[in-house]
Amino acid sequence: MNRYERQIKYQHFGEQSQKQLQNTNILIMGAGALGSHVAELLARMGAHKLSIIDMDIVELSNIHRQALYDEHDAQAMLPKVYAVKEKIKQINHNVELNAIHQEMTSNNIENIISKIQPDIIIDGMDQFDMRFLINEVSHKLQIPWIYGAAVGSKGTVYAIDFTGPCLQCILNTVPHTGESCAINGVLPPVVQQVASYEVSELLRFVSGNGFSKKLITIDTFEISTRTRNIDVLKNNNCIVCKQKTYHSLNNSYHPSIESLCGDTFLFRFKQQAFEFAHYFPGHIIKENDYVKFIKYADINMTLFKDGRMNVHGISTKEDAKTMYQQLNRSIK
Ligand SMILES: [Zn+2]
Repeated sequence: MNRYERQIKYQHFGEQSQKQLQNTNILIMGAGALGSHVAELLARMGAHKLSIIDMDIVELSNIHRQALYDEHDAQAMLPKVYAVKEKIKQINHNVELNAIHQEMTSNNIENIISKIQPDIIIDGMDQFDMRFLINEVSHKLQIPWIYGAAVGSKGTVYAIDFTGPCLQCILNTVPHTGESCAINGVLPPVVQQVASYEVSELLRFVSGNGFSKKLITIDTFEISTRTRNIDVLKNNNCIVCKQKTYHSLNNSYHPSIESLCGDTFLFRFKQQAFEFAHYFPGHIIKENDYVKFIKYADINMTLFKDGRMNVHGISTKEDAKTMYQQLNRSIK
């Protein structure tokens, strides 16, 4: 029996769509809650050409809402994309998974995507800045992409092929609220629902039916799902999909201190910081080839190979600045 028989039997899918799914080059941006569920679904369904990009390691606080990962991965501080690769190999050995452990910025995103040459991109990011970047680069390279977001009990999915409104068109009229998972929490079922609808849109795409053109909004706690056609939101003066002006993509400024959520900051040091980590104040509690975990009084620092550092336990921007300067001096 063909392992995909049950989905092939579905009348609007069939053998042809299965082949198409197998041959479609799919890029998943982010291996967090959405990305890990999307990757698992696609691997099980027989998508053979998958790329996934993410810069984080597996943490215990991820496991309640993210697919594929387990306590062992968190204990080992494994980069998410390598954990995905390991697990996917066991689920479906036919999948060629291209795992990229890297931070994506306006400086490298176009290059990374040009190299992969995906037929379609699936959004598994958790920041709007990144989504605007994906929207611009996708328009520039003419690659369809599927936007998905989940926070609290709510989720949104919209597939963009640039015949209708792009993310810029939509968010000009529907301003985002700046909600984030770390501050507002997120209920795991809504993550799975958003990931599922993202995959459904992809299945429509590979089967030749085209995207649904519907904005899907879900509230998993209110038990409601709504869809509506939003073609009217297409902005004929849109700076991205009409004027081809790519502000996010052309912005090459990356500050050395960025506020993430809650009491977490992102510091950027030169790449050699990883090598010189023993000069930082505090103690290296755990380390592997990709990351060093440093404890300094009540502050927990996760230092990545590329010089990025997530710092937990700082309450104000001023304190973050002082801390950054102190750390930077210690490795000079
Ligand atoms: Zn637009």
